[in-house]
Amino acid sequence: MLTTDSTFEIKLTESSAIESVDFDDIKFGQVFSDHLFYLDYIDGEWTKGVIEPFGPMSMSPATMCIHYGQSIFEGMKAYRQPDGSVSMFRPGANISRFNLSAKRMCMPEVPEDVFMQALVELISIDKDWVPHNSNSSLYIRPFLFATDSHVGVRPSNTYRFMIFTCPVGQYYNKPVRVKIECEYTRAAIGGTGAAKAAGNYAGSLLPTKLANDKGYDQLLWTDSKTHTCIEECGTMNVAFVINGKMIVPAPSDTVLDGITRESAITLAQDLGIEVESRIVTIAELEKAAENGTLTEAFGLGTAATVSLMSTIGFEDGDYDLPDLSTWIVSSLIKKALDEIRLGNGEDVHGWNIPV
Ligand SMILES: *Cc1c(COP(=O)(O)O)cnc(C)c1O
Repeated sequence: MLTTDSTFEIKLTESSAIESVDFDDIKFGQVFSDHLFYLDYIDGEWTKGVIEPFGPMSMSPATMCIHYGQSIFEGMKAYRQPDGSVSMFRPGANISRFNLSAKRMCMPEVPEDVFMQALVELISIDKDWVPHNSNSSLYIRPFLFATDSHVGVRPSNTYRFMIFTCPVGQYYNKPVRVKIECEYTRAAIGGTGAAKAAGNYAGSLLPTKLANDKGYDQLLWTDSKTHTCIEECGTMNVAFVINGKMIVPAPSDTVLDGITRESAITLAQDLGIEVESRIVTIAELEKAAENGTLTEAFGLGTAATVSLMSTIGFEDGDYDLPDLSTWIVSSLIKKALDEIRLGNGEDVHGWNIPV
């Protein structure tokens, strides 16, 4: 696949940085593979894609994405398989969601076939960067931003689509303490919460920092109108086990439609676990905490995969979840997900796409 017949222009690095990486201790998001992909949108058309060494790029101080936030991204992963090959996990779902985000932010969609080909070629070139240890993977970051040099709010006429990759280990190495947020809002009805738009994450930083100062790691976001319904956890979807059932807030205008969430629900159903995707109120959660039927709570997302919660901070105090050794649903889901992604179990849903 590496490639004299590529439709992209390919410039390979002369000095790989791979020797400097300690693959047993990778800091999440701080190590970048040798190459990146970019593709410019100019005058209503996508130009020829380029693969070149990862490095700084220069741009005008008036570049519109910096001022007006027309910028979206995706996060996905590729995994080393037992035979040494590399598979991406459900890249088609990320590509579809990327284009939904683009539409919402008034940006051009990236043609799906070009996007997929760019992933395959970039990861093939940097395949030595895909870690071999089982709790590690290659994180893939596609993004699109406005590149017109212009002052004044309007959609840009030019854009750049890019992809780079990072070998990563675990995101959180211990269970997280989360606080239910009833003052600040992540996403409002009619807003941009269902898109992976850069500004959504900027808006979440201050409330998260205030919670960090009180000893919590992350927030459980609630709905903007009444602050009575649970939406998401930080940049993950969330699931609870109440009375042995897996309860997950349903995707909406204000809840990002996570691929890990959807995969976890499918696997839970395969395992015979009862799943409800619906509105989850704080009152329901608090009652279940009080009567001991809330037995597990966890985040679901590409970066952190299945992320367990040790404590939920309610308005009237903290609830400590039971000892992690008793958690059944989250551990079954994590095991089933890992088996598929790492190629150790049968991929019955056809989620792995070879590079
Ligand atoms: C990316 C993201 C998720 C998780 O989505 P995945 O497809 O599972 O990675 C959940 N919530 C928010 C706000 C996100 O940005």
